[in-house]
Amino acid sequence: MRQKLVAGNWKMNGSIKANQQLLESLKQGITDIRADIAVCPPFPYLQQVQALLQGSHIRYGAQNVSHEADGAFTGEVSAAMLVDLACTYVLVGHSERRALYAETDERVAEKFVVAQKAGLIPVLCVGESLHERETGETEKIVKRQLDAVLTVAGVDAFRRAVIAYEPVWAIGTGKTASPEQAQAVHAFIRQHLASQTAGASVAQTVQILYGGSVKANNATELFAMPDIDGGLIGGASLKADEFLAICQAAH
Ligand code: PGA
Repeated sequence: MRQKLVAGNWKMNGSIKANQQLLESLKQGITDIRADIAVCPPFPYLQQVQALLQGSHIRYGAQNVSHEADGAFTGEVSAAMLVDLACTYVLVGHSERRALYAETDERVAEKFVVAQKAGLIPVLCVGESLHERETGETEKIVKRQLDAVLTVAGVDAFRRAVIAYEPVWAIGTGKTASPEQAQAVHAFIRQHLASQTAGASVAQTVQILYGGSVKANNATELFAMPDIDGGLIGGASLKADEFLAICQAAH
């Protein structure tokens, strides 16, 4: 049995005041939740989140990381800095980073490796665009995104990583993949890992999250699918009641 994980991706949202209210409500609300819970705030709030979550079971992580270790890279944040702030997770290859900041598969793979070497758990985001789905390329795209990481990190690296399947057409659009559509891709991802040399057991243990317009009213049916191990939640992670309801659905 894989443990479920529900991670909130706050994206570029939040304020000191709003974060405090949200986290206080989450801390009060999570007492009877069995899933792993995490939040990914913007970089400037990591220290605030660290302080507020002291002694809580809620983990936290960052939304991005530099592929470089240190040095003259203005505006970048290194994996070591995230470890310094006691982050557990870091998202790599979110579709907004790929589309808006031109992150290639190779760059995402570098970030995955750097993050993992530093001791973070990378959450590798993969997923197809609407056009790619409509032209029947979903598996091809997801495989290409996975292969970029498998080539440099090997399948064993997925013992200390999480995968998030996020169809781009479902992110922030209110259009969720049906549980069956999501399940099919999750099963494909697991099969693809299992097809690697010595990949069978990793394929069984790696957590694969679904992301893309997960809400309280669709989380239960998504999380009931055999290969869906929780969710990566954007918009709905900013509202305590809604996020807690999604966490409740993951058991
Ligand atoms: P959404 O975002 O839940 O707002 O669709 C998910 C994500 O981008 O991780």
